[in-house]
Amino acid sequence: MEMPLTQHISFNRPPLNLNDYAHVGGYQGVHRAIKAMTPQEVMTVVQESDLKGRGGAGFNTGTKWSFVPMNDAKQTKYLIANADEMEPGAFKDRLLLEGNPHQLIEGMIVSAYAIQANTAYIFLRWAYKKAARLLRQAIDEAYAAGYLGNNILSSGFNLEMHLHTGVGRYICGEETALLNALEGKRATPRTKPPFPQVSGLFGKPTIVNNVETLSNIPHIINKGADWFKDLSPGADAGTKLYGISGKVNKPGIWELPMHTTIRQLIEEHAGGMKDGFKFRGVLPGGASTDFLIEEHLDVKMDYKSVAAAGSRLGTGTMIILDDHTCPVGFVHNLEHFFAQESCGWCTPCREGLPWTEKILLSIENGQGRMEDLELLEMHTKYMGPGSTFCALAPGAMEPLQSSLKYFKADFEKHINEKKCPWR
Ligand code: SF4
Repeated sequence: MEMPLTQHISFNRPPLNLNDYAHVGGYQGVHRAIKAMTPQEVMTVVQESDLKGRGGAGFNTGTKWSFVPMNDAKQTKYLIANADEMEPGAFKDRLLLEGNPHQLIEGMIVSAYAIQANTAYIFLRWAYKKAARLLRQAIDEAYAAGYLGNNILSSGFNLEMHLHTGVGRYICGEETALLNALEGKRATPRTKPPFPQVSGLFGKPTIVNNVETLSNIPHIINKGADWFKDLSPGADAGTKLYGISGKVNKPGIWELPMHTTIRQLIEEHAGGMKDGFKFRGVLPGGASTDFLIEEHLDVKMDYKSVAAAGSRLGTGTMIILDDHTCPVGFVHNLEHFFAQESCGWCTPCREGLPWTEKILLSIENGQGRMEDLELLEMHTKYMGPGSTFCALAPGAMEPLQSSLKYFKADFEKHINEKKCPWR
């Protein structure tokens, strides 16, 4: 089984420096793209590979690039790596940032070449201090080797790369809020359209891609679109970094083909549930996705299969709920995070999330009323898709609405017994 993204990552040593990375084939993607391919050819291969955005949206990466207007060669364009990984339970990009920063930088150089961007930023989560240090070193090495700067590989293509560390706001993972933050403004999402591909950073065409997405690019350029599609046995191409946190024997991250089932991930890779703990449910794509339960264990972790089961693949970093953990407390904890991270721009989210959090806390503390369950159901509608300015609030409603669907008896028990049965 090929693991292109993680093949050179080892926990026993620091990440490869530029020379060692080049020794195992690193930067061949840059050579191939810049010396032997036109930007349009690079874009076409990526589009044909069907690499879908690994940050959660799942949109075809090459198609996203194709929206950048290419008719004016002198037009300023930007490429941004979204490394603001802040969702609870998500730590897959951190593995790539700390484990092989040159792979990301190479992917960014090729991607910038495809859209003819001459400036690239890595927007990094503030807490990723080790990643920041390693990225700075790797960027310096890439400049020294002539992979960044002016006239890369004597091609006439120029690229400046900057590392920007955020201040620790979850909303900066939303690409237009990220753009505002990078411009030094309040980090609130922007109205779309115009989309960033047309009017992004400083009003110029901009592509924002996730770290895992960009790290795939060198391999696709080196080995081709068909190779990438063949990595997976199903309709979604490539491998995926899947993560598991919760009461399993071996929580962690694994690079596996798309279409791996939830059961395989938990039982084969995470070593099963810990002794004495039973599986009750899972947020398959991270904190902002709907719970799936035991009947969904054989669902394949790809975009369509998870959606058909009623949730989203999201980041692919799963959080498991076990039978020793109170579902109400679990969801309250998530809603506390989302309420804290609301940017405050639109009323339903700014007011609704703290209200939701308070209702959940009162239920958890044994002070809830049966009417509160209807109120919570109402909130999931008022903050559902299309009711708020961005996807933060609808995402926050996903674990809540599905917990009311699958674990309603637990909510009712809190209310009837006037206490948390887990305490
Ligand atoms: S939904 Fe929340 S995070 Fe998004 S714009 Fe509205 S207030 Fe801000």
